[in-house]
Amino acid sequence: MIANYHTHTMRCKHAFGTDEEYVLEAIKHGYKTLAFTDHSPWPLHPFELASIRMDISELAEYADSIQLLKKKYKDEIDIKLGLEAEYFEDRMEWLVRMKELFEMDLLIFGNHFHQKITHGTYYAFYNDTEQVLDHYKTDSLAGLKSGLFSIFAHPDIFARSIRVWDDKAEDMSREIINCAKEQGVYLEFNLGGLRSHAGYPYLPFWKVVSQEKAPTIIGIDAHSPSDLSDVRSISEAKRILKELNIQVTEKIAD
Ligand SMILES: [Zn+2]
Ligand SMILES: [Zn+2]
Repeated sequence: MIANYHTHTMRCKHAFGTDEEYVLEAIKHGYKTLAFTDHSPWPLHPFELASIRMDISELAEYADSIQLLKKKYKDEIDIKLGLEAEYFEDRMEWLVRMKELFEMDLLIFGNHFHQKITHGTYYAFYNDTEQVLDHYKTDSLAGLKSGLFSIFAHPDIFARSIRVWDDKAEDMSREIINCAKEQGVYLEFNLGGLRSHAGYPYLPFWKVVSQEKAPTIIGIDAHSPSDLSDVRSISEAKRILKELNIQVTEKIAD
């Protein structure tokens, strides 16, 4: 791996290690680019919790910390600042403002929740199994077409909420895969899911990616510095993608 665009920090409450430890691990293992894209905070609605993301009050400190590391290690590695964010229609203006305010380099699309952050609207364990595909499609297409995101993280996360891979699931997948292709957004083969056997990457989805020849990138989804050097999941991913005849982009254009 020479680049990783999906790196968390301990501010999200389920990742480990200091920001600098991620940078040092990346340098040690030959990365040329490391993008920090921690789970975005949001202005919260009543009953929403920031339990898997930084608090909104931590955003400035996060940005400062990454910008300092960017300067400190500029001769050894290209550090980028970003966030992994959902598409919440009512809050996108805020996100765009934050991107500008903190001079972020990129945003990646983590379509985790539909409209609100609640247990039932988490796409990996969606309550409304009748409508999960429709809702996922709506949010995915809106996010992809927004022009805000460079990478669609774990685009197959919805697979955990469906019982069968039927025509409807395949058609929906093809539509979002082709939308990503049209918009020039990379589909991420997510190693966080691979490491934890989470049910994604979901191979029927990736077979469609292969058929449509959509742009693909591997994302470490690092929640610990050691994830950056987890040879087992990295080589497993490369083997699967090769078998599926999927071309992988290693580094995206600035
Ligand atoms: Zn996470
Ligand atoms: Zn992530």
